[in-house]
Amino acid sequence: MNVLVINAGSSSLKYQLLNPATGALLAKGLCERIGIDGKFTYKPEGKQAIKEADVAMPTHSEAIQAVLNALVDKDNGVIGSMKEIDAVGHRVVHGGEAFASSVVITDEVMKAIEECNPLAPLHNPANIIGIKACQSLMPGVPMVAVFDTAFHQTMPPVAYTYALPYEYYEKDKVRRYGFHGTSHKYVAGRAAEMLGKDIKDLKLISCPLGNGSSVTAIDGGKSVDTSMGFTPLAGVPMGTRSGDLDAGILEYLMGRYNMDIKEMVSILNKKSGVFGVSGVSSDFRDLENAGAEGNKRADLAVDMFNYGVKKLIGSYAAAMGGVDAIIFTAGVGENSASQRLAITSDLEFMGVKMDAEANKVRGEERVISAADSRVKVLLIPTNEELMIALDTAALVK
Ligand code: AMP
Repeated sequence: MNVLVINAGSSSLKYQLLNPATGALLAKGLCERIGIDGKFTYKPEGKQAIKEADVAMPTHSEAIQAVLNALVDKDNGVIGSMKEIDAVGHRVVHGGEAFASSVVITDEVMKAIEECNPLAPLHNPANIIGIKACQSLMPGVPMVAVFDTAFHQTMPPVAYTYALPYEYYEKDKVRRYGFHGTSHKYVAGRAAEMLGKDIKDLKLISCPLGNGSSVTAIDGGKSVDTSMGFTPLAGVPMGTRSGDLDAGILEYLMGRYNMDIKEMVSILNKKSGVFGVSGVSSDFRDLENAGAEGNKRADLAVDMFNYGVKKLIGSYAAAMGGVDAIIFTAGVGENSASQRLAITSDLEFMGVKMDAEANKVRGEERVISAADSRVKVLLIPTNEELMIALDTAALVK
């Protein structure tokens, strides 16, 4: 069985063709500048990537058609015909409270996803466009929606309710939703395999750390708390996002600089985080280099990030009444040995002891805590596309 995984943005579309049974990746790529001047990248597994500029892609339909053409191309294709695509898995950012798991897409499901649009106005409409384009180009092929928020629907009210007038939750759906759910779910499953335990018996804290970062407490395989909130702006400071913040600052700054709320929120999303603090970059490699050259603000930004993650690990261990394993994943989590060490430093009081040698590794599934560490620390490369393909295969079987 082959599953085409689609992650549609407003002007871009990422895709992978995978065999969920074996985990094999057949091909992947990216359509960019849809509606502008169409850039197309296609990489069949084991071969060079093919890049084309000025590909006519006025809409997502032409972009997906280009993907399908590439997949069946007689020279560089990876399947003989479209019949070899058994299902399509779509990443959908927001499922609100309507979706606690992945679902086969029906007309009713489409309606419910559309109803979530106000909660993710930049993302959900683009996801819907991607689904509709696939439906028209691949009639009869089952489609599945996999939501970033679904995994966190198991959070209890004590974790998801904001201390605001309660009617904002009841009438306006303002609550913590959490994101990165596909990634948290994938690494939690892998962690259970690596530890040889039933996930039901594990308390895990998963940390996908990258440009966007979130920390999640996973008790018995279920998300019980997470650092992102109503939007992905909350939690630890990120590449350019502020993370948690005293809301009183907004009124103060908007008054002093005569900003409207749009400008303020744009600053919180695009000019804050480690970029805002360092004034150097949102990229942690640049910050490491700048720090090595003596840039104190770059050091401060990285230290703040690491400190923020460490505090969440402590609070989630408290929330769950313990922790069996901490998982690092995504760009920073998979690659930065120094940040993993900094985040887990001084946590011996709660049973975390790193193995500095084992930690000297990148992007490889591995235990990086010491043999006598009560809490295991795991490096697990994330694979959201495989998780989407697995969910899709399970639902369409
Ligand atoms: P992601 O959003 O998961 O793609 O992660 C992107 C972030 O990971 C960027 O800030 C990168 O600088 C960071 N990253 C990638 N490799 C390294 C590395 N070797 N050391 C530190 N950060 C890294």
